[in-house]
Amino acid sequence: MLLRVPDFYDSFRCIAGKCTDTCCVGWEIDVDDVSAKRYAKVKGAFGEMLRENIEDGHFKLLAGDRCPFLRHDGLCDMICNLGEDSLCDICREHPRFVEVYGDIMEKGIGLCCEEGVRFLLESKGTATSPIAFIERVIDDEPDDIPDDALEARNAIFEEREHLFKILADHSKPLNERLIELIDFAVETSGFEDLEQSIHNISTTTDSDRNSKISNNILRSWIEVLAKGESYGPAWDCAYKELVQVSQNLEYGKNRECAGLFAHSDGEKIIAYLLFRYYEKSLFDGNSLTKVEFAIYFWVMLQKFGEIFARATSTPAANESTSPHDPQVAKINAIKLFSKQTEYSEEIMGVLEQEFMENPLFSPENFKRILME
Ligand code: SF4
Repeated sequence: MLLRVPDFYDSFRCIAGKCTDTCCVGWEIDVDDVSAKRYAKVKGAFGEMLRENIEDGHFKLLAGDRCPFLRHDGLCDMICNLGEDSLCDICREHPRFVEVYGDIMEKGIGLCCEEGVRFLLESKGTATSPIAFIERVIDDEPDDIPDDALEARNAIFEEREHLFKILADHSKPLNERLIELIDFAVETSGFEDLEQSIHNISTTTDSDRNSKISNNILRSWIEVLAKGESYGPAWDCAYKELVQVSQNLEYGKNRECAGLFAHSDGEKIIAYLLFRYYEKSLFDGNSLTKVEFAIYFWVMLQKFGEIFARATSTPAANESTSPHDPQVAKINAIKLFSKQTEYSEEIMGVLEQEFMENPLFSPENFKRILME
């Protein structure tokens, strides 16, 4: 089996007590069967406490959805008492993600993790991709997939390579490259009518009318985020501000467009989301929606990143960083938006449906926003 990972993957380590965040609050933590059997044998007071805190196959969360093993110094009581090997699968793997396509396995670090985001933003790409990858052979058994699926898999990998190449082409401004991504995704997704329509975006010299249309699109791009569960108080706070902004939207003149992010960040974020999601179109056939999600994520960050960052800013646990540091603000914004979207099956389902059915998320409207 071939393993493909971003080149920073092996350097990643959870920074635990030095992290301004924690992955031990806000998520339900399932205990896999193998770990549950191991926990059943742990002796002494810690073993008893451990078993008391497992209910219906997961850890009983404390007030504020806090893991019962999270200590006040940010360290994990389980690791402190039993060592790192004692962790259940979720705690050991998170925030890593993994996907297997026959004899190819891909792994990465989720954007919900501030250390993972830092690695991504500081990474260097290649001439043909905003992110560099490394590959190695591993011992794991490949998944069986039929020959025709293998062919489709390889074709989708090639398409993704092409998308990376478009993104890495610095001879063009970023928005032009993103429009090319959409054109390519429409072409490869085989919707001819769609292809026809996106070459005919109605352009008008009436700038007021254009700006009204763009405002409506953007407003619906904000509203969709309320169609699913909230990640938590930080998101509620960000969303409240987003709604205020959307009510007074003066597209392009909005002070939130001040630009926390550089275009070089955008390339990496979009490439990373394509790395994580584009190949999944092998299973659902929706390659266009994967490109749209990556661009949607970026546009929302670019326009409202400062709101997301403000909602997440907490005094840094690590004294060498400050929430006012632009790099910290970027990291906070990315991880909050990632948690609210990527880490909610419900929101991802809503977005996928909106991308397919809602005209305000059509490829022509993506292009309209990018052309403003
Ligand atoms: S966000 Fe990343 S670095 Fe922080 S606790 Fe979670 S896994 Fe560790």
